[in-house]
Amino acid sequence: MLTYDQALAIVLEHTPKLDVIERPLDALLGSVLAVPIRAPHDLPLFDNSAVDGYGLHAQDVAQTATQPELTLQMAGTVQAGDRGLLTISSGSTVKILTGAPVPAGVEAVVMQEMTQVEDQRVTVQKAVQSGDNIRRRGEEFKQGDPVLPSNIEVTPPVIGLLASLGFTEAVVYRKPKVAIIVTGNELVSPGQPLKPGQIYESNSYGLKAALTALGCEVLSVHQVGDSLSETKITLEQAFSEADIVLTSGGVSVGEFDWVKQAAESLGVQSHFWKVAIKPGKPSYFGSRENKLLFGLPGNPVAVLLTFHLFVLPALRKMQGLPSVSIQSRMRKARLLKAISKKTERLDFVRGQLGQDEAGFTVTPTQGQSSHMLGGLAQADCLIPFALEDSHWEAGKWVDVLPLNWSVFS
Ligand code: AMP
Ligand code: MG
Repeated sequence: MLTYDQALAIVLEHTPKLDVIERPLDALLGSVLAVPIRAPHDLPLFDNSAVDGYGLHAQDVAQTATQPELTLQMAGTVQAGDRGLLTISSGSTVKILTGAPVPAGVEAVVMQEMTQVEDQRVTVQKAVQSGDNIRRRGEEFKQGDPVLPSNIEVTPPVIGLLASLGFTEAVVYRKPKVAIIVTGNELVSPGQPLKPGQIYESNSYGLKAALTALGCEVLSVHQVGDSLSETKITLEQAFSEADIVLTSGGVSVGEFDWVKQAAESLGVQSHFWKVAIKPGKPSYFGSRENKLLFGLPGNPVAVLLTFHLFVLPALRKMQGLPSVSIQSRMRKARLLKAISKKTERLDFVRGQLGQDEAGFTVTPTQGQSSHMLGGLAQADCLIPFALEDSHWEAGKWVDVLPLNWSVFS
């Protein structure tokens, strides 16, 4: 059986990058820049004051080194938004507010808190250095300088930076379009009455939420019974609209598990069908042209974990983000409760992080079976329990993988 790392490598090998589009600032959050950003102008745009204070002439700046109390004559005020056309000469000062352009002749700004003002006379009570509290034109970026590389996620500061450079839009990778198909005769949507043998359909809700948190477009959610023809028709429809099709259930070895057969009959190339992980052994992956099909297991914990383990890295790659190995995301924590397993699979034990004087701790959550969503809902990390091991004592330092459903990690 394939290991997790082998299966993930196969997923990434078949995952294409999506095309790029221009999007306005207020629709950029969570997208990935597709072209590098250069400064269209200097930033700051002009010399301006970093504080509310008084502007000093070069000669007076030098004077403050030897004269503890230097008194200057007020020559006016410049506030943010003014053109700053005043000029000062030695012996005079100008009140200057944060962000206001520094008038000609001003060599430094002394903070208001370091002065005493009486009538129109300002006494400077501190030695001042040339350039103090002046934000120089172009000190962060000169026109044409590289500002941001491509292939990074647009975060709130990125949006703020783009706006401060006057951009109204940026070129980003298109967000993946996803269709979800849940399979199973037993499934009934919450809000509907349940007959004996039926259960509430929950996988589409968890998957849709996970996709929405990443800014993906969920085009449709289909529910099909355990029927080959129904599965085929719905899969074909999903392929016609989406970049990625996610199915849940119907992909195991049961008599009524039709997903793989339906996919293959529609020309989908199968890349793998079983992976040595728990939960999530019956995970299927196929592709048709540039479109991907993830046949995720039906068990509610397995479906969300395999989403996290396989679909998320594909979503990252589609949008130009570099791949991040799970090894590089691991943290060390001390196991507070012994864990055991029988299978030779990489077991993703759901855990809760804590902290004590020795560092991070991790406790397996209640409800570790793959149908027990409570154990995943309470988890903030996974403990990858090595394939070849069967027992880990309490007190062991283990790797943990932080679980965060709203970021691309
Ligand atoms: P399957 O992989 O189709 O055999 O499903 C495995 C288990 O997951 C069964 O107990 C199903 O009833 C359950 N299951 C499958 N799909 C869903 C779903 N969409 N919501 C909740 N449980 C499901
Ligand atoms: Mg089923």
